[in-house]
Amino acid sequence: MYPRDHTTKWFTGQGLWSDVNKLEWDDWHWQLRNRLLTVDHLKQEMQLTQEEEAGCSSAKQKLLIAITPYYFNLIDKQDPDCPIRKQVIPRQQEQYIAPEERLDPVGEENTMPVEGLVHRYPDRVLFLVTSYCASYCRYCTRSRLVSNAQEYDFHPDYERAIKYIEHHTEIRDVLISGGDPLMLPDRKIEMLLKRLRSIPHVEFVRIGSRIPVFMPQRITPELCRILKENGPIWMSIHVNHPKECTIELKDACERLACSRVVLGNQSVLLKGVNDDVETMKSLSHRLLQMGVRPYYIYQCDLITGSSHFRTDPRKGIEIIEHLRGHTTGYGVPQFVIDAPGGGGKIPVNPTYVKEIRENEFVVRNFRHNEYIYPFSTEALVVEGCSS
Ligand SMILES: *Cc1c(COP(=O)(O)O)cnc(C)c1O
Repeated sequence: MYPRDHTTKWFTGQGLWSDVNKLEWDDWHWQLRNRLLTVDHLKQEMQLTQEEEAGCSSAKQKLLIAITPYYFNLIDKQDPDCPIRKQVIPRQQEQYIAPEERLDPVGEENTMPVEGLVHRYPDRVLFLVTSYCASYCRYCTRSRLVSNAQEYDFHPDYERAIKYIEHHTEIRDVLISGGDPLMLPDRKIEMLLKRLRSIPHVEFVRIGSRIPVFMPQRITPELCRILKENGPIWMSIHVNHPKECTIELKDACERLACSRVVLGNQSVLLKGVNDDVETMKSLSHRLLQMGVRPYYIYQCDLITGSSHFRTDPRKGIEIIEHLRGHTTGYGVPQFVIDAPGGGGKIPVNPTYVKEIRENEFVVRNFRHNEYIYPFSTEALVVEGCSS
């Protein structure tokens, strides 16, 4: 079964590592051990542009370089504008810090009652459990702590965080993130899920992870058993481009779905990667085919050194405008701006309500045709039914 657009393929395979034993290739520990971590290693496998080489030189102080062999295979080595390449290979523009950019762009540090626990919304918390990922996204909103290049020395205190959640009975939803929670060993993931599940008021547990995209080999039978036993777990993966929708990712999503994991996707709107309608529409269609519901598109946070990725927020509105009504409703994510300073995620939408009058709404549809929806503010009285 092939997707409608034949411009990108589903299959990847072992590519550059075709001589590696298949059992090793499919072992996530092998993928981690064999990550590309240095500029020299990158240069052995591909020709870097001058911009990229300069970008690599500052990564040690900003956000480390790491690319799994599996994900590295998705890069078009001949194309400096490859959308996969831009996400993980640093460029010189990373060194430029725009005046509006911040180390903590969405104000997480001010709402952390315990190191690693962000309590911003009334009924839910963000639980950061590690600072490591399988690969590092160059636009990472938590680059202040992720990969520890900036010597943040992140030490999440699981015990204190869990105690806090136990004490705060208003918390009904825990979002486990990081770093990437699936970098933890199985036994730690199991311990965390079991502890959270044993708290009566915690009714919703979810994981934010890009590991299915960077290293689908991590979705092992043992991990699936743990997830299934503690399910349903909701999981937001992070796919930005249809090229990332490989058969390997599709299979990993299938294994997760069979383990009671409910899948959603969050994308970050990135200049030159996915900031056009056709790419995002194709991505949505691929996600639906993999059983993943597009959840959020984020306007790129004002993280230091990310201005080369940032789009005009009107682009996000334009993308939604061209999805809503034009394709499956399940395939239309919510475009949000995570408010600088800590206001939380704010939905940003095309305007469908043209005017609100005393007794009618003036609305328009996806074709820009106007309609009037009349309504009465009087209590509804049905003849013959009054008591
Ligand atoms: C994104 C986020 C959440 C979860 O938000 P939802 O809109 O419920 O997905 C919770 N806490 C923090 C701090 C967040 O940034």
